[in-house]
Amino acid sequence: MSNEHNMRRVTAIRNGTVIDHIPHGQAMRVLEMLNINKATSVPVSMVMNVPSKKMGTKDIIKVEDRELTQSELNRLALVAPEAQVAIIRAYSVAEKLTIELGDEVTNVVRCTFSNCITTNPREPLAHRLKVVSREPMALRCHYCGRPQDLEELIRNLL
Ligand SMILES: [Zn+2]
Repeated sequence: MSNEHNMRRVTAIRNGTVIDHIPHGQAMRVLEMLNINKATSVPVSMVMNVPSKKMGTKDIIKVEDRELTQSELNRLALVAPEAQVAIIRAYSVAEKLTIELGDEVTNVVRCTFSNCITTNPREPLAHRLKVVSREPMALRCHYCGRPQDLEELIRNLL
């Protein structure tokens, strides 16, 4: 058995989800956005700084025994909009999913302005951010209209 073959056996998963083409350095953020943490019971592996023809270097995440849903994946638009996702069943790709960034990001993160109406507990509003630009990504709060700082926004995960 060649080394390359051994390697593939180690990295392949039987069932689960593979998230590929994550911008290099964003893997931890992706895990955070998916609520994958030390309380998660399924095996999760993360590979960082993998050489990529398209991206220079990229990160890859493999989540075993769990198929991520489209709505979970759409959360990733904020940190890895170009990521490619494969659902694996019995060691082969059963489905390919892409991350969709719609016109609005709803109930993923909260507006970063503390005096926004959405921070008032007596106003149980949906957290809605409008996508005003994709490249580079820019979001504005649906309610207060203020532009959101992406770095700050990601810390406001719901
Ligand atoms: Zn707001």
